[in-house]
Amino acid sequence: METSIDSLREEIIEVGKRIYARGYVASNDGNISARINDDKVLITSTGISKGFMKPEDLIIIDMDGKLIDGNKKPSSEVFMHVQIFKERPDIKSVCHAHPPYATGFAVAGIPLDKYVLPEVVITLGTIPLVEYGTTGTEEFYKPLLPLLKDFDAFLLANHGALTIGKDIFNAYYKMETLEHFAHIAFIAHQLGNVNTLNKDQVQKLFSLREKFGIRKNIGLIPEKEKRTRKTNH
Ligand SMILES: [Zn+2]
Repeated sequence: METSIDSLREEIIEVGKRIYARGYVASNDGNISARINDDKVLITSTGISKGFMKPEDLIIIDMDGKLIDGNKKPSSEVFMHVQIFKERPDIKSVCHAHPPYATGFAVAGIPLDKYVLPEVVITLGTIPLVEYGTTGTEEFYKPLLPLLKDFDAFLLANHGALTIGKDIFNAYYKMETLEHFAHIAFIAHQLGNVNTLNKDQVQKLFSLREKFGIRKNIGLIPEKEKRTRKTNH
């Protein structure tokens, strides 16, 4: 069923205000999109502050990233959005921003790949680091593709953060969770110790996912990494 485009516009404008007010973006950075149906996506246009958007600042593109409705220009990052909608039929919204702590980890080249906080383990699992690629080119979203089926939140190396969700607020709240986690992880690093949850504790949290309508196997630490980590100890 097609969701009303007007209500999608309103929600994107509201989320834009929040990501701007929380300092997740500077200037005209970031982009937010929502799937209208199988062929169309509503997305923020380029060159506009996400904190002060009007309904006409949102445009409609097709699944090739081509403008089909609106008077503004699509962002160079539209191709990443359409790729996500193509690869993940369950995803209805994509949120991309540059929140300072998450982006700090992305710049430092450190993925948030440990099970630390219960809320984060339930909602996101772990957050991988996606290799750097020049924005606006295929290079930008290619490294993301193999990770898409296993994660809902990503750090983009030397760039920012990306979250995807079943609706606009779901994608946005994942961005909040990711940035909050990155902030806390940063503080724990500074304090000199990060205690992780044990296997049993993690399993118990995963068993709560169904109750919250969260996919069972999202954000797991890949088996091969677990093995490498063990040999490192
Ligand atoms: Zn960006």
